[in-house]
Amino acid sequence: MLKGKIIKGLSGFYYVDTESGLYECKARGIFRKQKITPLVGDNVEISIVDEENKKGVVETIEERETELVRPPIANVDKALIVFAVKDPKPNLSLLDRFIVHAERENLEIVIIFTKMDLDDGSLDELVEIYEKAGYKVIPVSSEKHINIDKVKEELKGNTVVFAGPSGVGKSSLLNQIDESFQLKTGTVSEKIGRGRHTTRHAELLKLECGGIVADTPGFSSLELDGIDEMELKEYFIEFDKYDECKFGSKCVHENEPACDVKEAVENGEISKQRYESYLQLLNEIRQKNSRRY
Ligand code: GDP
Ligand code: ZN
Repeated sequence: MLKGKIIKGLSGFYYVDTESGLYECKARGIFRKQKITPLVGDNVEISIVDEENKKGVVETIEERETELVRPPIANVDKALIVFAVKDPKPNLSLLDRFIVHAERENLEIVIIFTKMDLDDGSLDELVEIYEKAGYKVIPVSSEKHINIDKVKEELKGNTVVFAGPSGVGKSSLLNQIDESFQLKTGTVSEKIGRGRHTTRHAELLKLECGGIVADTPGFSSLELDGIDEMELKEYFIEFDKYDECKFGSKCVHENEPACDVKEAVENGEISKQRYESYLQLLNEIRQKNSRRY
């Protein structure tokens, strides 16, 4: 048996990357009976059927650490959330929405602000907001080749998705990280940027720096379906340490008097910007839920 990772699935075949190369595999019939569908990203064991033609069979699937729906990939461990400093101007409420989705999927999060060469003074504040919340923030410029190595460090040894709106420079950044990326994906802008957001097939690409990246951006739907009013606050990690709020676990940190989170917003320990995003999302969830009942 050979250990490997499924990096692509196509018409019932799974392409498994192993230390002895790539194998085209079928899945054992038992998986279908158990209603288990192998997923891109799965860590598997295969038996070799035909070494010459690199054909095998997926025998076992390791338990998944994470399982993304869009794109459908198992065992992603990190989300690199990408927004531009300028052109387009960052929509922070959208950024916070990406964070909520990534937190919900239990991914490690790094926030990248691209196009720092265009900065006209807003970058410092952006970095401050998200560092204060507890995130690692990396400003980069693909144009001027700044901090590309720092992003590579984040990729090394991890399976990551890039997430963020189109036009912020995700494909430009990936091209800087790995010069052969364009060859691997064909038309990059079509793949990771515009146009392929509705894709149902995802593929993992191995990068020279030792990371693995999804060829489609993460969280193509940012709907808040299924998130409970009480649950949202868990995804604003800077609220965590105030969870001993006088109102206990029932506090949604909104209209409750003497709420510790509100106090922290007042005295600047929590960013107002982030708190307002939270309230906005909270209201959206309520409206959704009231329509449902
Ligand atoms: P994507 O849709 O997120 O993949 O974004 P692209 O990589 O296609 O980039 C969108 C536009 O932003 C392109 O015109 C890029 O040339 C430009 N761009 C990307 N990165 C930078 C950067 O670091 N600085 C500047 N000034 N422009 C950039
Ligand atoms: Zn509270």
